[in-house]
Amino acid sequence: MIDSHCHLDFDIFDNDLHKVIDSAKDAGVTRFLIPGTTPDGWQRQLQLRKSIEEIDIALGLHPYFPDTLNGENINKLQEALTAHHERVVALGEIGLDKTVDIAMAQQEHILCEQLELAQSLNLPVILHHRKTHHLLLKHLNALNFTQGGVIHAFSGSEQVAREYIERGFYLGIGGTITYARASKTRDTVASLPLDRLLLETDSPDMPLSGYQGKRNTPAKVSLVAQSLAELHDTSVSDISDITDENYRRLFRSVGNEGERPSA
Ligand SMILES: [Zn+2]
Repeated sequence: MIDSHCHLDFDIFDNDLHKVIDSAKDAGVTRFLIPGTTPDGWQRQLQLRKSIEEIDIALGLHPYFPDTLNGENINKLQEALTAHHERVVALGEIGLDKTVDIAMAQQEHILCEQLELAQSLNLPVILHHRKTHHLLLKHLNALNFTQGGVIHAFSGSEQVAREYIERGFYLGIGGTITYARASKTRDTVASLPLDRLLLETDSPDMPLSGYQGKRNTPAKVSLVAQSLAELHDTSVSDISDITDENYRRLFRSVGNEGERPSA
C-alpha cells in the first residue's frame, strides 16, 4: 500500500528517517508521496527523491506559511516544476484554510495562480481544505480545472465528495476514520466508491485513534487501510490493491516516466 501524503522532509524525521521508512516497509507500505510546502522544503524533497527510490514528490506553496505566499515564489515554483518535471508527480500541497490567520483573498489569489500553473503543466494537484469546500469548488469550477488531483484528509458530506469526484478528484483517507466518534466522516467514507480513494497519514500530524500526542508515521497507513476495509466490508489486501491502482492512475508518471507530455 501507499502513503499518498506524508511530510517526511520535516525536521522531526531528520534523525531517524531511514528507520521510519524501514518500519513502514515492514508494515507493507511500498511508496511515499511527500507534498511540498515551502521553497526551502522543495530542496530537501528533491534530495530525498534522489536518494530514496520509494519516494515521490509534489511541489507547491502550502497556505500555512504567509511569508512564502507571493508572486516571486509562484515564479520559483514554475521554474522548479519545469526543471524537475520528470521527478514531480503533482502540484501541491495547496489550498484554503479558514482557521489560519491569513486573509482569505490572499490565499485564494495564490491558490488560483497555482491551479493555473498545474493546468498549464498538465499536473494533478494536492488540495488542502479546512471549512473551505465551497470556495475550493467555486475556483475549480470557475477555472474549469481539468487535471484532477486529491482532496487531502477528506472530511465532509457525501454530496461534496461527489462534486469533487465529478471534477476528476480522488479523496485522501487518513486517520480520522479510526476514531469511533468521527461517525459522520466514517459514514460518508463508507458510501464512497473505492476506486476514488487514496490512503494517507499526513505524518507527522493527524495521529490515529490510540496514538494521540505521538508523532505519526507512514507505517500507520496500514491501520487506516484496516479501518477502511471494515467500513467497506472487504479485506485489507483488496483495499491495498485498489488504492495502489488509484494512486498510479492519478499520479500517472509513476513508474512510466516520459508518458506525461513535458511542459
Ligand atoms: Zn499535508
